[in-house]
This record gives sequence, C-alpha cells and structure tokens, in this order.
Amino acid sequence: NKQIIFPEYVSGFPKESDLNITTTTIDLKLPEGSTSVLVKNLYLSCDPYMRICMGKPDPLANSLVPPYITGEPIVGLGVSKVIDSGHPDYKKGDLLWGLVGWEEYTVITLTPYSHFKINHTDVPLSYYTGLLGMPGMTAYAGFYEVCSPKKGETVFVSAASGAVGQLVGQFAKMMGCYVVGSAGSKEKVDLLKEKFGFDEAFNYKEEQDLSSSLKRCFPEGIDIYFENVGGKMLDAVLVNMKSQGRIAVCGMISQYNLVDTEGVHNLPTILYKRIKIQGFRVFDFYDKYSKFLDFVLPHIREGNITYIEDITEGLESGPSALLGLFHGKNVGKQLFVVARE
Ligand code: NDP
Repeated sequence: NKQIIFPEYVSGFPKESDLNITTTTIDLKLPEGSTSVLVKNLYLSCDPYMRICMGKPDPLANSLVPPYITGEPIVGLGVSKVIDSGHPDYKKGDLLWGLVGWEEYTVITLTPYSHFKINHTDVPLSYYTGLLGMPGMTAYAGFYEVCSPKKGETVFVSAASGAVGQLVGQFAKMMGCYVVGSAGSKEKVDLLKEKFGFDEAFNYKEEQDLSSSLKRCFPEGIDIYFENVGGKMLDAVLVNMKSQGRIAVCGMISQYNLVDTEGVHNLPTILYKRIKIQGFRVFDFYDKYSKFLDFVLPHIREGNITYIEDITEGLESGPSALLGLFHGKNVGKQLFVVARE
C-alpha cells in the first residue's frame, strides 16, 4: 500500500521534501466482525485547508480542521471504490467520496457526514472531489446561504478561477448578478470571462493598485464579496463595498503560509458602511448535500454549468500538486489520479 506520509509540522511555505512516500502492506480483506469499509482510492483532492492541518496544532485553527498526525498518511478528500465492507450501508463495488488517506487503500470508519455514497455516475467521477463534492458544497452554501444574494446585485469573487470560485461566479450569474473575478494569470482571467461567464475579470498580480481596479469594475460599489484570499485584497475590497454590503469569508489562502499574518488597515470601513462579515465552514452545511445535488445535477446535464479541473497522474504527483495551490499553479480544481477503477 503506497502512502504519502506527513513527517513533521510545517512553518512557512511547505516543500515537497516535507512529505515522504513509503510502501507498507495491507490485508485486502477486513477482519471478521469489522464494521469498517475497505476502499481503493481512485481520485484524491488537493485543498488549501490541508495547509492548516500541516501547521503546528493550534486550538483556534484546529476548531476548523484537525491537525495531521505525524508519521501517518496525509488525510484528504477523495473518490474511492469499496473493496470489502462490514458496514450495512456499503457493499463491494460501491463508490463513495469523503475522507481517506493519501494511499492506495484505506480502511474507513464511518462517522456522520464523513462519507457520501455516489449514486450518479453519468457525470465524471472526478467531479466528486470538486463540483459535486466539498468545494461545490462550499460555493453553494457560501453563496446562497451566507451571502443572501438578490438579482441585480454586484458580486466580487477572489481566487475566482479555482475549485470554489469558478462555481460561485456561475451561481451568481444564474441569479442575475453582475460578477467580477480576480485571478493570478492571463490564462485564468481569460477563462473567467470566456468560459465561466464573469462580466469582468482582472489579474491582481498585474494591477498597480487593487482599490482602483475594483473602483474601475464597480463604480457604484460591491454588494457581495466572496472572500477566498484575505490580506491586501480584503483591504482593497473594504473601501469599495457598498453600504450594507455582505462579505462571506470562505478562506484566506494568502495568509496560510505566513508566520505573522498581514494587517488589514481599512477595518473602520466595516462600521462606516455597516458591512456584514461572516466566516463559515462547509462541513456545517453538509445536511444540505442532497438538496445541493438536486439543484446542481440538472444544470450539469443541461450544460448550464462548466467545471475546469487540473488533474495530475499518480500518487507520487500529490505533494507537488498540493503545494502548487499556494503558488497559483493549478488552473481549476486540483486533483490527482491514483487509479481509474
Ligand atoms: P483554488 O482552486 O482557488 O486554489 C487556490 C488558489 O488560490 C490558487 O490557484 C491561487 O490562484 C490562489 N492563491 C494562492 N496563493 C495566493 C495568494 N498569496 N494571494 C492570492 N491568491 C492566492 O482553491 P479552492 O477553490 O479549493 O479554495 C479557495 C478558498 O476557499 C481557499 O481560501 C480555501 O481555504 C477556502 N475554502 C474554505 C472552505 C470552508 O469551509 N470555509 C471550504 C473549501 C475551501 P491565483 O492564481 O488566482 O492566485
């Protein structure tokens, strides 16, 4: 059983050498009386929150996600096939998505919402790491539940071409909003405008002054900011918000690798403009997963929603794919293939 092991807690930007590849043996049959599920991992997902799990245990950060255990395989989300099962809900050959180790085979202990059975296979299976999995639920819950959007409102999305952002933009367009996204390359900006239907987009790395860029895109101000990056972008957004605007804090990827987080200067604007800011965690919305599928599957089948994935081959490609997220290397949802069936 080839595995990617997490050896030690990380400070600053992680390096590939911070993760080790080893091979152990595993019995491909569960012991008699086991209530676990043994799966073969097919697609594994790279997600920014995993950096938080790699940091030194910290009660505040770990109230969002638990720390990794040193010497154990990395844990992440994946799509897997059941090889053996002692659990009444799963039988050999079933497909599921949820938390597994970064390894070829994992023995899963099911807890509430830890795993979901995959019942719709007329769409790409890899979508259950993105569009039909955790990032899709994040975009859905974050936009519809946290932002309380209305037709005609102005919406800004950062890290807009990523796993979550590309969907937030498309949901906002479906709602009849005016939508602008920021991303870190020309290729991504082109995708936003040409593939995902954003009204406007800019490359934040090439703008002299982010506040002026936002002013140019939103002369009347921003009603909703879907926050994925934090730092300088948040500062620039605050002064461009409309009065009574809403900010859904989904993530702050620009801060995850910093030893000291950046200061945000324009906080008094929250008071002057009576802005509502709310952080959220997707896991708290998992009870809405089947409602989300009922909403999103018809849109996929009818071609109303597009989803771009960045897929690398092999378990060995996992570490560099994961670390690439923090340098903007991924174009769309980052995942890797361990096995195709
Ligand atoms: P993405 O697919 O968007 O990948 C990460 C992207 O972040 C990179 O491609 C890069 O895009 C951008 N980025 C990286 N470093 C920086 C930086 N220093 N400054 C600005 N942008 C940067 O990831 P996801 O869509 O999976 O996640 C997006 C956000 O949502 C993250 O902050 C994540 O933590 C959060 N999240 C929160 C959840 C929750 O429950 N609250 C659940 C899931 C995700 P670019 O080239 O455009 O810079």
